[in-house]
Amino acid sequence: MRRILVCPVCKSADITLDTGGITGKYMCKKCGYIGSVVLELTEGEYKELLEGEKLEKEAERKDRNK
Ligand SMILES: [Zn+2]
Repeated sequence: MRRILVCPVCKSADITLDTGGITGKYMCKKCGYIGSVVLELTEGEYKELLEGEKLEKEAERKDRNK
């Protein structure tokens, strides 16, 4: 099954191998995160993650409006 690499910082799937994979580290094109730890998710899991993020933000917004 296809795996999606996801940035642990900003949850972007715009991940590339740093310097052509020589260091074995990943780089996030969105926030500039560089590290050997990235989330490896299936498409379904990634969708769930994004949905979860969205729900979290909505919950935060509701809390602020109280
Ligand atoms: Zn990132």
